[in-house]
Amino acid sequence: MHQLASFANIVRCPRCLSDITFAPPAKPRCSNVKCTLNATGFVQVDDQPVLVDFERSIFAPGAYDQNKGYILARENTGRSIRTRVRRFITGRNLVAEKNGGEFLRRLLLFGERPRVLIIGGGAIGDGAQGLYDNADIDIIGTDVYASPFTCAVVDGHHLPFCSEAFHGVWIQAVLEHVLEPHVVAAEIYRVLKSGGLVYSEIPFMQQVHEGAYDFSRFSLSGHRWLFRRFEQLAAGSVGGAGTAFVWSFRYLCRALGAGDRFATLLASAVFYLRFLDRLARHRPNADGASGTYFLGAKSQRTLVPREMVRYYEEQMRP
Ligand SMILES: [Zn+2]
Repeated sequence: MHQLASFANIVRCPRCLSDITFAPPAKPRCSNVKCTLNATGFVQVDDQPVLVDFERSIFAPGAYDQNKGYILARENTGRSIRTRVRRFITGRNLVAEKNGGEFLRRLLLFGERPRVLIIGGGAIGDGAQGLYDNADIDIIGTDVYASPFTCAVVDGHHLPFCSEAFHGVWIQAVLEHVLEPHVVAAEIYRVLKSGGLVYSEIPFMQQVHEGAYDFSRFSLSGHRWLFRRFEQLAAGSVGGAGTAFVWSFRYLCRALGAGDRFATLLASAVFYLRFLDRLARHRPNADGASGTYFLGAKSQRTLVPREMVRYYEEQMRP
């Protein structure tokens, strides 16, 4: 799945963008002797380099000591009972599956073997499986923890890759967890080739999840502005107002004292309300959507602020 040779060609120091020296068994280190990451080098977890500039990151180096590699307890397979019950309540992300097909179709139109960066790829997201299954694509999986689906631990604010390294970036349900989404979007722009594709999903009407590591929500217009340097190919809701209502009910139960598991159980009694999304009208549904998606291509043209007023009216027209 991962082409480590090409990975080594494009990987760079997250602080100064100099080449990184890989000379096992020594730690990988920045090749620039003036950079402090030359002296300190990069720790490794599960044989994967932690290419994080800790002086500029929310994460502390101690989180990766003793080969731990996990900031939060994660469940990568999606097979735990808890994950399955939650999936039953909120439903499969059919929008992502459709968009993943379109992302793949467009990737294969590049005249060369496409290379795709997955940010937040510790677990394979809804709709992304087709990318992993396609033998004609190189996938570089990254996350803030090491998993069987990643080849490096990175912080999206300072991507450790050379500019214009990728044909596509897939970032799904990640940007709400970063402190500065606009910085991450600028980094995505930098590492994409001209015309390179981004697929992003961000929650809108979802409550806090992942505890201390949850910072932002975006309306469809906010999501568009975040990727204002991209041409929009498609955008819309991921889970409508009905899905958002089921989420709200679960968090109401929690607020009233139900534990997380009991609240999830109680919410399963109203899961069917998410099917109302199928009857919803586009515009009001987007205004109350559970999440939004944006599929775009790196462009030379940037949206100007005034265009955003018209965007709200036009985005939902067929
Ligand atoms: Zn450096």
